[in-house]
Order: sequence, then C-alpha cells, then structure tokens
Amino acid sequence: MGDYDHERKTGIEAVSRACRVCQLVQSQLVSSETVIKADRSPVTAADFSSQAVISLALQKAFPGDPLAAEESAADLLERGDELLTERIVHSVQFVHGRVGKDKILAALESGKHPGGPQGRFWVIDPIDGTQGFLRREQYAVSLALVEEGQVVLGILGCPNYPLHWLEPEAERGFLFVAVRGEGAVMRSLEEGWEKPIQVSDVEDPAGVVVCEPVESAHSSHEDARRISERLGIVIPPLRLDSQCKYAAVARADASIYLRLPTRADYQEKIWDHAAGWIILKEAGGEITGLRGDPLDFSRGRTLAANTGIVATNGRIHARVLEAAAAVLGWA
Ligand code: AMP
Ligand code: MG
Repeated sequence: MGDYDHERKTGIEAVSRACRVCQLVQSQLVSSETVIKADRSPVTAADFSSQAVISLALQKAFPGDPLAAEESAADLLERGDELLTERIVHSVQFVHGRVGKDKILAALESGKHPGGPQGRFWVIDPIDGTQGFLRREQYAVSLALVEEGQVVLGILGCPNYPLHWLEPEAERGFLFVAVRGEGAVMRSLEEGWEKPIQVSDVEDPAGVVVCEPVESAHSSHEDARRISERLGIVIPPLRLDSQCKYAAVARADASIYLRLPTRADYQEKIWDHAAGWIILKEAGGEITGLRGDPLDFSRGRTLAANTGIVATNGRIHARVLEAAAAVLGWA
C-alpha cells in the first residue's frame, strides 16, 4: 500500500468523471467555428461542470482539503446567465447523480485557495487547453496534490490522446498518473488498464521531437525554432494544446517541451504545470525554468519564481538549457 492510495483512487475517479462531462458537452458542440465566433458558453459550461465534478468528489473523500482551482462560483454568478447555470447543473448530474444547484455552487466556491508553502491543497485545471477542446484536438483535465510546497500526486485526463500518433484508428483517451517515488503510468480511460511509462533514452538532441503550444501567444514559436536549429533538430515541432505536452515527453512521443515567454510579465499558473510536472519527473524527465531553476510550487497560485519552461527526457536537459541561453542572449 502506498501512502497516497486513497488520494490516487479518488483522483482517478474524479478526473475520469470530469473527462466524461467534457466529452458530453463536446458532443453537443455544433461546429467549433460557430462556437468560437458566436457563443463561448458551451466551453464555459464544460469548464465549470468539470471543476464542480472534481470538487464534489474531493470534498466528499477529503472534507478538510482546500482546493486551488481556475474557476470560481463568483465568475459564474456574475454572468447572471440562468441558462448556463442550468446547463452546468444538468451536466454535473449526468455523471455525479442527483445533486442540487446550491451544492454545485458551493463546490465551485471552494476553489479559491491561495496556494503557498504550507499544508496540503489540491490544484485543479478543469479544462486545460480550451482551444484544443474547441478544435476537438488535445485538451486535459488536470489534478494535482501539493503538500508543503511539493507536488506529490498528479493526474492528467486526456480524452483525445492517441495510443499511437501515426495510427488514426488507434485507441484514444488516457489518464496519466504519478505519485511521488512510485513512477508514472498511462491508464486507459475506457478500459482501466495501466502501464508504466518512461521518457526516451536519446542522448543526442539532433534527432528528437520538440513539442510546444499551438497558440503562439503562449510560447514564442520563433525562439523555439532558433533553439531547435541550434541543437541541430530538423523534425518540425509537435504543436499540442494543454499539458498533453508533458505526457508526450513522459511517454517518449517527444523529448523536449519548450514554453518560451512572449511577455516579460506573464506568470505561469500552478494548475497549468503541477500534474504534468510530477508525471514527467516520475517518468524520468527533468523540468526547469529557462535558466535551469527548479519549478517552485510554493509561491501561491502562480510560478512566481520561474520564467518559461524547459522540459526534457533529462539526459539532454543541460544541452537544451545551453542552447536556450545562447539564443535568448545570456550566454
Ligand atoms: P497551452 O495549451 O500550452 O497553450 O496552455 C494553455 C494555458 O496557457 C492556459 O491554461 C493559460 O493559463 C495559459 N496562458 C494564457 N496566457 C498565456 C501567456 N501569455 N503565456 C503563457 N501561457 C499563457
Ligand atoms: Mg490551463
């Protein structure tokens, strides 16, 4: 028995349900184009419903644990959109069973924890990679547990992640799960089988796949191109939304994930990295800020001490940091 068996089991159930809510709402989207242009409420409904489902499950199993989550009940109430609220209540009930609106709002309201170095708290991103969700490509439901400023458990639900990238008909939909000191696994969302995952063992960066955000506003594609060029990389980058990029490096579909600041004042959010961080660490990888600084999850709701993200299979980490320093002009 591991120390976090109960947390792991509860988290897996909660994230699996949240993935089902996302898939339910996604199946109701008419076309991603109309949604993006005219009406963003479907994605908003999925976001709030996913967070409510996870919060309800955690509150039941661990009533004293605070939650640091992206959305809040106040955000929902401020909209004054009765139809949206109704939609959320129905979606939550679909996977959770009978639960009233007030309890759902209370669950959403519990996500305001400020984070920080003390005690334990859960970190939730109900839909990471909203754009990928709308495009029906990659997105993730992300849940992590932080204790005394350290991530100890991470679960990523990736409903569209393929077993093999080059086989369009391959099984899709996986959870990636890691507990500190116990390694990382991928787990079939549908069938529940699990298998350990590990990073690639390449030592020469020249032949590797680099992943980066699809959105150029979230990471400089141009700086990544220059870093890749310096490392001799010729394969075009794998652009994915969400923390699926961490999963991609953790299961050796790629060996590098670069997130290069496009603005000096942006602080990365803990819910965009906590789960991915421990999954990749436990799969044998390394993750730092651009200057090789360890990610510090004890600074509140953002990674205030870090700038940018470099994630690799570990073996090539120093070379990638060197190339980044040279390209960005501090070496
Ligand atoms: P990705 O799917 O990798 O593009 O990451 C999505 C996340 O990017 C969202 O959850 C946001 O929290 C985050 N984000 C928003 N603006 C920025 C920005 N300017 N730089 C980096 N990340 C951002
Ligand atoms: Mg996010």
